[in-house]
This record gives sequence, structure tokens and C-alpha cells, in this order.
Amino acid sequence: MAKIYLGIDLGGTEVKLAVVDAYGNILEHASFQNSFNSVPEEVVAEIVRFSRNMKHFSEVSATGVGVAGDIDQQKGVVRFSPNLPRWKNTPLKKLLERELPGIISIDNDANAAAWGAYWLDAKGKVRNLICVTLGTGVGGGIICDGKLYRGATGTAGEIGHIPLNPDGPRCNCGSFGCIERYVGAAHLSSQAKELLKTRKHSKILTLSGGDPDAITPYILARAAESNDTIAINIWKTAGRQLGIVFAGIINFFNPEMIVLAGGVSKAGKLILDPIKETVRERAFEKPASICKIVISKYTQKLGVVGAAFLSR
Ligand SMILES: [Zn+2]
Repeated sequence: MAKIYLGIDLGGTEVKLAVVDAYGNILEHASFQNSFNSVPEEVVAEIVRFSRNMKHFSEVSATGVGVAGDIDQQKGVVRFSPNLPRWKNTPLKKLLERELPGIISIDNDANAAAWGAYWLDAKGKVRNLICVTLGTGVGGGIICDGKLYRGATGTAGEIGHIPLNPDGPRCNCGSFGCIERYVGAAHLSSQAKELLKTRKHSKILTLSGGDPDAITPYILARAAESNDTIAINIWKTAGRQLGIVFAGIINFFNPEMIVLAGGVSKAGKLILDPIKETVRERAFEKPASICKIVISKYTQKLGVVGAAFLSR
């Protein structure tokens, strides 16, 4: 019988679980809320409870967990997580090993997503791939020569903290002008808010019910689709900024594929077109011509499937 795996995507606001077959099909899934102040032992107890309630639990041969944070993959320890401050040097692997069957693999959530993109979007058919998750933060994962590349301390892939502007605004990471500080979901919304101070009539305000604090990337995408110039320009600028970073990545790493995932990537062509245009203008011609830049068709399940496949 083909093996099946348990994949867990442990994020700051939600924990998703899925039983996945060898082809990446989700046989069963569940989720529960997580919160900023969650206590590791309590979350682990919930993971165990939800896992054991799965119909296929007894058939699971291995478990993989992707965690939003800095991970020691060797020891299976969550060193720290900016969005889960109580998770400090948490021995997650040890805590789960007592309760769940098979080998437990722990990794960063963007690494898990990259592994998912490698198998689902690229079908395992390229050798070098970059996955960029665009959401509240900007994460990334690197597949190098068909393997997940983690670097010396497991930190590799932090694309969001590549600097775009040396004199730019302070980033959560402590540096200045990181790309995340420009294209992270909250920053896109606050750019709109700023621009609307001098423009009272915009589709963005209609869609947000007149409340500038309710502006989201989803609203910005809908507004751009109905030809709102502020929204269109925000996406053009964000795409150009990402394109500048991608041009650097293409010259430096020479990937065959860059996969965009996460909520902000749902803007589709609005962000993808200016990215491609900027890459064409700025990257070396040959590596740019072979690099496919795509939006993942599997955003919702990259995290859990990737985590599950990490345990294979
Ligand atoms: Zn940063």
C-alpha cells in the first residue's frame, strides 16, 4: 500500500493539519486557531487530539511540521518565532515524538511551502527553484539541485529581508529598507492609506466602506481591476520592487522557476506583469529567459503538503 503522511502547518494565527498521499492529494484535513500568546504544550496537545481524530491516523507513516519561525531542523527545535513569543527553544520534535507515529520532521514554514511548490507547481521536474510567500511577511525557500537548501544555520531563504533601499524605513528584523517593508500586506495597505489622504474619491474607499483602516490587499486588487489609478499604481510599484529583487536573485542563483504564493500573490497579473517586465529590463538575458515566474496554483495547500513531503 502506498504510504501516507501527516503534514502540519503551524502558523501564528492558525494551525492546519492534513493527511496527504504520495501524490500530494489531501485525503483529510483539519485546522484550529492559534494565537500570539499560545503556549507550546497546549498547542501540541491540540495537534495530537486533532491528529488522532483523523480517520487515516493509524496509517500515517511519518509527520512533517512547518513552523513560522527560526528552526533548528537537526534537533527539531523552534529557536524563536516573531509571531509566537512564548515559543522559545521549544523542543517540538521531542514533544510530538511521544504522541505521533513515525519520524517527525520540523522545518520553517516557508521551507515547507517551497518543498510543496517544488512537488506541486514544478512536479519535481526542475532542479533549481525559489518559492516566495507574500503575506503579512515575505518568506522564501530555496530548492537547489533538487534539494531543499537550508544554509549553515537553517536560515537560508529569507528573501523578505533582502534590502531594497539602504535608506529605507526600519524593518521588524532590525535592518532598514528590506523588501518586506515595501510589499508586505500591511505595508501595501498603509501606502494606500497615505495616498488617499490627498484623494477623497477612490474605489478603494468605496470597497473598504469608507474606512482607510479596513484596506486590505484583496480590496486593492478589486479596486485595481475596476481601474482605480491609486490601486493600479500600488501594484505596479510593488511588482517593480519585487522585480528588482528577483533580477538580483536570477543573476545570483540562476533558478529555472520562481513560484509566488501567499495571500498577496492572489493579485495575479496585477503584480506578476510588472515583476516580469522589471526582470526583463534588469536581469542578465540568458538566465532571465529560462526562468519561469509563476503564481502557485496550490497556495492553500503548499504548507501542509510541503510539510508532509518533508517527512518522506
Ligand atoms: Zn528585514
